[in-house]
Amino acid sequence: MAVYSFASGPSALPREVVAELASDVGNYGGSELSALELPFSEGVFSDILAETECDLRALLGVPPNYRVLFLQGGASAQFALLPMNLLGRGRHCEYVLGGHWSRRAAAEASRAADVWVIASGDGRSLPDPKSWRRSSDAAYCHYTTNETADGLQFHTLPDPFDVPLVSDMTADLLTRGLSVERFGLIYASAQKNLGAAGLTLVIVREDLLGRARRDTPAPFDYTRQAEAASKINTPPTFSVLIAHRMLRWLQNNGGVVAAERRSKAKCEKLYEVIDRDDFYCCPASLPHRSRLNVCFRLSSPRLEEMFLDEAKANGFVHLNGHRDVGGIRASLYNGVSEQAVDALVAFMTNFKLRRG
Ligand code: PLP
Repeated sequence: MAVYSFASGPSALPREVVAELASDVGNYGGSELSALELPFSEGVFSDILAETECDLRALLGVPPNYRVLFLQGGASAQFALLPMNLLGRGRHCEYVLGGHWSRRAAAEASRAADVWVIASGDGRSLPDPKSWRRSSDAAYCHYTTNETADGLQFHTLPDPFDVPLVSDMTADLLTRGLSVERFGLIYASAQKNLGAAGLTLVIVREDLLGRARRDTPAPFDYTRQAEAASKINTPPTFSVLIAHRMLRWLQNNGGVVAAERRSKAKCEKLYEVIDRDDFYCCPASLPHRSRLNVCFRLSSPRLEEMFLDEAKANGFVHLNGHRDVGGIRASLYNGVSEQAVDALVAFMTNFKLRRG
């Protein structure tokens, strides 16, 4: 029986990428060494890192005045490191609370910074960027482009403003076209669209470097990591290689334009089944529905439990909603195939026929 993962992360990976990595673990590039054994300070890994950065820049169109950092600690570490690195003296930062993850980001930042909440969502929709109460003297303005737990996604960019825009794109980086130059800083954990856990990307405009608090630990200081080509300490070498393989896969499969087309096609198939009648119900408001995390409910907790049990028995795993939200969630990151979505659609249609 085929098993399809719809996990919210770490995500499914394309089978071709997994096969390549299995070979890399056995014998990397004919070196007779495992990819797990490559010293980070020597040529082979340096080449992998340089190629990964080059591919990422090409896929996203990262302008030359941005630095790409390969860090550890996940997006959650960035929640605390943003104010340490970007605040400067005596300034505040602004946060948009669209859902679970932006609330977590703001809570963590508020331990080190004066956080102003400039807009909030209601759990079903996101605050329109035009309604954000932005001020011109903030150090930065933070928002989360896709709220993984709530199944919500911003589909429009905020208008350009003087204050640097900082964004958590953990869930949707590389799933749609992006104007990097509209942002001061973008960060993302890799385990959703870019490979496996362990690697966190930070793409930062150069003029925002040099502002870190003096007590910022060196591995977490953007400026020092930029100066050291992300090698202040051992980078997550294998996670970087996984990102490298994943970026090549994206390139060979039509780049970000095709990734966006696939992402739209996958979620539309699921929303279509959900919207057909009231057996399934999606709490997210239509304009803010996420393409990456399709969240839905059934009429009772008992029926949801039956759905999850039967789905699992049929090979559809990790469909449970976020623990604070409940319900069902199908996450459709870059590595989730259209074939997996078609199979899930067939299962959902059949489940409704039997239990509706
Ligand atoms: N931000 C978003 C949007 C997420 O979905 C997640 C994890 O699911 C995180 C941040 C936290 O990432 P990590 O567990 O890598 O710290």
